[in-house]
Amino acid sequence: MLTDPRRRAAAESLVRYGRRMNPDGLAVGPAGNLSVRLDDVVAITPSQIRYDEVTVESICFVTLDGEHVGGEGRVSSETPMHLSVYRTTNAGAVVHTHSPRAVAASTVVDELPAVHYSILRAGGGPTIRVAPYERFGSDELARAAVAGLEGRTAVLLQNHGAITYGRDLADAYERAQLVEWLADVHLAASGFGTPRILTDEELGQVASESARRRYGAAVGTTR
Ligand SMILES: [Zn+2]
Repeated sequence: MLTDPRRRAAAESLVRYGRRMNPDGLAVGPAGNLSVRLDDVVAITPSQIRYDEVTVESICFVTLDGEHVGGEGRVSSETPMHLSVYRTTNAGAVVHTHSPRAVAASTVVDELPAVHYSILRAGGGPTIRVAPYERFGSDELARAAVAGLEGRTAVLLQNHGAITYGRDLADAYERAQLVEWLADVHLAASGFGTPRILTDEELGQVASESARRRYGAAVGTTR
């Protein structure tokens, strides 16, 4: 029985977002995984259980060193990759998907270019890098993912999928959807011809305008 209220809330959010993975087209069957950080413990969806069968009790709790400290499910093979992201970033949540256009793009391009300015929201940079192929569950894959995420919030894993992180699960999940959407737009654009890519200057203007508007919103907020 999961009695700790923070752990229960994290587990419930993982069950809720996990149920969206298949209908939102981010994974087929139990593929991919989601996690949330609670101080020095990470809650992560269990291995080989279909998302519609994942329960709060089956969510795994592991330390940042990978020790299984709670939950009835089997620890996912991609847990080392999630833990590596938490050890090297300020992530509050991590989402790993096998979404089809992101996987397709990863087999062809070295990086996903800026066909739309929302790439800044998705990945935090002018492109989304593709980390070179490594076997699932390997330390090499975890290292490649972390290298591809340097200064970014999203990375494609070649012939495999995508990883995004955010301050919370809603944030990381939306980024995973945006990565797939950007891959989709790139694919559609390529069908019309060669897509125009936003320049660094244009992306810089988007970043500064976004920052200005956030600042304005913060100043306008009274507590
Ligand atoms: Zn995977």
